[in-house]
Amino acid sequence: MGKQVLANVRVFDGDRLTEPVDVTIEGAVIGAVGGGRAEDAEIVDGAGATLLPGLIDAHTHADEPALRQALTFGVTTELDLASTPGTMIPLRAAVATSSGLADVRSSSFGLTRPDGHPHQLRGRQNDPDWPTVTSPGQAREFVDGRIAEGADYLKVLIEDGHTLGTSLPSVAPDIVAAVVRAGHERGKMVLAHALTVAATEIALDAGADGLTHLFVDQPHTPELIARIAGSGMFVIPTLSTLASITGRRDGADLAADSRVRPKLSPEWLDNLSRSWAFQPPEQFCYALDSVAALHAAGVDVLAGTDASHLGAYGMAHGASLHDELRLLVLAGFTPVAALNAATSVPAARFGLPDRGSIRPGARADLILVDGDPTTDIGATLSLLGVWRAGVRLDAAAVTPA
Ligand SMILES: [Zn+2]
Repeated sequence: MGKQVLANVRVFDGDRLTEPVDVTIEGAVIGAVGGGRAEDAEIVDGAGATLLPGLIDAHTHADEPALRQALTFGVTTELDLASTPGTMIPLRAAVATSSGLADVRSSSFGLTRPDGHPHQLRGRQNDPDWPTVTSPGQAREFVDGRIAEGADYLKVLIEDGHTLGTSLPSVAPDIVAAVVRAGHERGKMVLAHALTVAATEIALDAGADGLTHLFVDQPHTPELIARIAGSGMFVIPTLSTLASITGRRDGADLAADSRVRPKLSPEWLDNLSRSWAFQPPEQFCYALDSVAALHAAGVDVLAGTDASHLGAYGMAHGASLHDELRLLVLAGFTPVAALNAATSVPAARFGLPDRGSIRPGARADLILVDGDPTTDIGATLSLLGVWRAGVRLDAAAVTPA
């Protein structure tokens, strides 16, 4: 792979925009930010545009079409939070050899109980291959099983169905605590699915490393925010999903956007336009207020969408991360803070030091956008180019998934 120079481009350095500089891509990494232009380099004119790190979606359920779609929207890494090894093991192999797919990390299966979440989303079929846990003594075996499947981190589902319009048997607190201990003994983070204050408190009691959603059943209290801040855990609020759960149809606006429409199939546009609507819309305000309070308290907030399969209404891979950024700004984040939530912050918290920032030696996962997303977050959708490990995506060659 030869050198490419993104010429006269303003760079989002995690804090602000630089003056226009030349950024050199050498193979799969960033060779230089500023400095001279190599004679043999391919020149890409970046005048008037902004270069940002490729975006990281910190909560998805990935497969090959998902990663292909995500990349067309500048999402260069998806952090999968529950999938089967039957999907993930071949997917990792495909990602290693294809420049047309976003990179991926995964928890493999999430820990649940027999008939627990997410089996109700699978036609109430208890997937015979989905391991379940019924006692704390099984936590170690669960953790080792997932690590054997290649899990980068672990996930536990604390879900009684309350906010999802149903009733489900939830993993008991002593099992949550046991899996967090077992994961930490193996050097892995353990992340907790929690959509209620009660589930959040179970995750806090257990010492989980992060929350993969945000409670949406009640307003926050100062005590709860202080407890989360004091724990050091990070939060992936998935405002896109919480909007869908509360009947908002933010995805419909996104589906109507001319920068989104041509990239999605009719099925995904339909999926994006719908919502779950399990809870009244006013509860979404609880989530916005809680995210703002967490941010003010210094909690690391990571952008994630919970984009999954068709039928998980209100989200689409890649596209929805741009809506997540918009919703973080709606909650009171500055555009810069929202961008950090999709770049440097997830890179730091998920141990991905090769990405999430633009500096020499970093992986050349990059997006070039028209305009200035540090003042107008909506500009992230105005994509002029996407690079994945130094390879520019040929947008013309991609057909909607
Ligand atoms: Zn999820």
